[in-house]
Amino acid sequence: MDYDVFIAGGGIAGSTAARFAAKAGLKTLFIERHKTPRNKPCSGIQFGYFEKMLGVEVPRERLCNYELKKIKIYLPNGKSFGSAFKMLNFMRKPFDDWLNIIAQEEGAEFQDECVCQKVEEKEDHNIVTLVRPNEKKTFEIKAKYVLDATGLRPRIRSQIRPHSTSSGFEGATLNYYIDGDSDLDPETLYQFWNLDWNNAMFAWIYTKTLDDGKDYWVVGTGYNNDDVNKRQTMFYESMKEQFNINGEIVKREGYKTSMDMYAKDRVWLGQNKILMVGDAAGLIDLVRGVGMDAAAMSGRIAARAIAYAEKKNTSALSKYTKLMRRITSQTIKNQQRGINVFKSNEELQRYMDKSMMKTGMKMMYQSQLNKFRSGERQVLLPP
Ligand SMILES: Cc1cc2nc3c(=O)[nH]c(=O)nc-3n(C[C@H](O)[C@H](O)[C@H](O)COP(=O)(O)OP(=O)(O)OC[C@H]3O[C@@H](n4cnc5c(N)ncnc54)[C@H](O)[C@@H]3O)c2cc1C
Repeated sequence: MDYDVFIAGGGIAGSTAARFAAKAGLKTLFIERHKTPRNKPCSGIQFGYFEKMLGVEVPRERLCNYELKKIKIYLPNGKSFGSAFKMLNFMRKPFDDWLNIIAQEEGAEFQDECVCQKVEEKEDHNIVTLVRPNEKKTFEIKAKYVLDATGLRPRIRSQIRPHSTSSGFEGATLNYYIDGDSDLDPETLYQFWNLDWNNAMFAWIYTKTLDDGKDYWVVGTGYNNDDVNKRQTMFYESMKEQFNINGEIVKREGYKTSMDMYAKDRVWLGQNKILMVGDAAGLIDLVRGVGMDAAAMSGRIAARAIAYAEKKNTSALSKYTKLMRRITSQTIKNQQRGINVFKSNEELQRYMDKSMMKTGMKMMYQSQLNKFRSGERQVLLPP
């Protein structure tokens, strides 16, 4: 056997899984299709508990210049409310690069510019075909366990479960990075709930630090089954007027998913010795508006499940499924109450009026309790 664990994808789930697998003494290889450090379209905002999930503090130089200290929510009727709330704010390029590095420091092997092409299941191991496009080289490795951490266009999942992804795309997001001024506060995360701008969650504005060390306003949204450019233009024009955003758009960043966010079996943890982690497992949560926490948790828990299975000669998938139960049931439950069910902004407003107070109370309660819980037992927020 070449490796105990092979992981396709060097994002949050893949790097976290690689680090914990190597830490547990498993011979581990993880790969990334792009040259690293690589960019990944993402708001890069997480709750404070993320560091607990990763089991390590994020170095200041991997974070954006501005810390996010407040959140302000705009409702469909235009009213808003805000509260103090500290969040981690980072760009995925330096952040994921750091995760890659600390996984290697723990002993995991890493290859970038290496693409996982396919996996063939044998009785007690897997044969993985890898390609190095630049060198026009194809080769195979043998690994007992395989983790698919390839994100929202999951490579291995689409091969072994083709019906759960499409060849086209199921939804898209678009961000504008703006070099300019506005009336907005750079330490606040702004969320705009309005079905005309985003029919899956909220549209957003925040600040981000690009590679040149400068800060930019990011205005973005996402839309399913429609032209996201049209929605983004509507949102951007409205925001420009409301908050005096003026400046040049220096970067446009789009992202597409091949996974149907509303498919009943979106959350799927794998088969035999092939485990799905992060977005590839369908763990992104549009109701919570985040996915990196579930990605890190699933990577960490999958590594633990494999280490346990090896020690006890039992099924890693069963252990993984058991340890992930709270996260998977929360994600499935949230998927069923996504805002896509609302036909109008009035309906969405009525729902938010009814549910927001309760969600806020639960959020405060669980975030206090999380302070006493271990990294693997964190309850995902908002609960
Ligand atoms: C616009 C946008 C904003 C978001 N904002 C937030 C946010 O603020 N907070 C939050 O928590 N979540 C956010 N998310 C969700 C978050 O980005 C994902 O949940 C998270 O990145 C999932 O991590 P992952 O490791 O599963 O996948 P990814 O981070 O997507 O990593 C997958 C990696 O696999 C690589 N890969 C793909 N195919 C192959 C292959 N065949 N071989 C080798 N490598 C491969 C990819 O290049 C990529 O590097 C956002 C998502 C989007 C689209």
